[in-house]
Amino acid sequence: MSSQIKKIYLDHAATTPLDGGVFNLMAPYFTDVFGNASSQHSFGREAANAVTSARDKIAVESGISPAELYFTCGGTEADNLGIKGISLANADRGKHLVISAVEHPAVIESALDLRAFGFEVTFVNPDGNGVIRAEDVARAMRGDTILVAVMSANNETGVIQPISEIYDEVYKRGAYLWCDCVQSAGVMPLSQFPADGYALSAHKFYGPKGVGAACIKKGVRFTRQMSGGHQERGLRGGTLNTPAIVGMAESLALSHKRAQEEAKRVEDLRDMFENLVLCQIDGVAVNGGGARRLPSHSNLSFSGCDGQNIIFLLDLNGVAASTGAACSSGATTTSHVLTSMGLDEDRVKSAVRFSFGRDNTKDEVLAAVEILKKVISAIRSR
Ligand code: PLP
Repeated sequence: MSSQIKKIYLDHAATTPLDGGVFNLMAPYFTDVFGNASSQHSFGREAANAVTSARDKIAVESGISPAELYFTCGGTEADNLGIKGISLANADRGKHLVISAVEHPAVIESALDLRAFGFEVTFVNPDGNGVIRAEDVARAMRGDTILVAVMSANNETGVIQPISEIYDEVYKRGAYLWCDCVQSAGVMPLSQFPADGYALSAHKFYGPKGVGAACIKKGVRFTRQMSGGHQERGLRGGTLNTPAIVGMAESLALSHKRAQEEAKRVEDLRDMFENLVLCQIDGVAVNGGGARRLPSHSNLSFSGCDGQNIIFLLDLNGVAASTGAACSSGATTTSHVLTSMGLDEDRVKSAVRFSFGRDNTKDEVLAAVEILKKVISAIRSR
């Protein structure tokens, strides 16, 4: 790619840049305050104090108790801990799981792995807009259902799920609800998603990569999935990543502080992008467009085109977007999310996710639309 091309990053759902202030705050914990937070000397105590402050801060921001927080190496590990840990600890009550079909692979694969331990998994499809209906969850539940997993907002479409209604059904039937809040955290508080446990990942809210947390409510039994030391009350072994934990707390607090103003600005940019694309390019459909969505996400299908081709040509022209879940990167499989919504093959194959963030500008949106027009026209004229 030519060095003259100005790069435009429209893939904030995959990851966000680390906030500069957060980076500065983390820096001393790589060098000066380097102690192991489990060590019994002053170096260790300094690190442990930083972890305690960070834990308290995340707990306040999330409306949970510090004791309900278990640091992990990210959203994937948090989902593994929640789904496997809760299911295995409660297997004496039943071995049936209900999982929404639009979950991230971290949830789906965790649930499927449990089949080796005798669990059965029922998937619930969304409606055509990607919304999981509470009545469909209720219908899928059985007397032996112990855990239901429905994410707060989908990573591909940004569609926000009716978690309160779903939780009512799950609670009534005596099961636990796991809610992967990786995409919504920092934008929407956890309190908007009543559940028994949550997954968080710092790199989605301008924090560092490789750190996250499972928030598991008091009284919910679960077993550890990472055997090792006594860290995290013996429920997640492994030396704590002090700089990352400090960074996670600060980035969550900053994101919440800026959330309202930023959500509006990002949503305006997203809406402007969608309106321009819909007016200026034929054969475009918004996936999940009829549902309530996160302000950042825009999942568009371009009839007759291949989504992989679109992102390849966009990238050659400096625009970063993605098809499907970039977290399972390199994957050229079709989107299980869009397929479960009942969309036809062309719509699924031609989908591209654009996701906007803090640093995007109107000029970038205008430039990206111009590039997209050229890319689609080039593909269609082949
Ligand atoms: N859950 C959702 C909804 C995600 O979007 C992602 C990553 O994109 C994950 C889980 C995994 O998080 P991590 O990248 O921190 O492992």
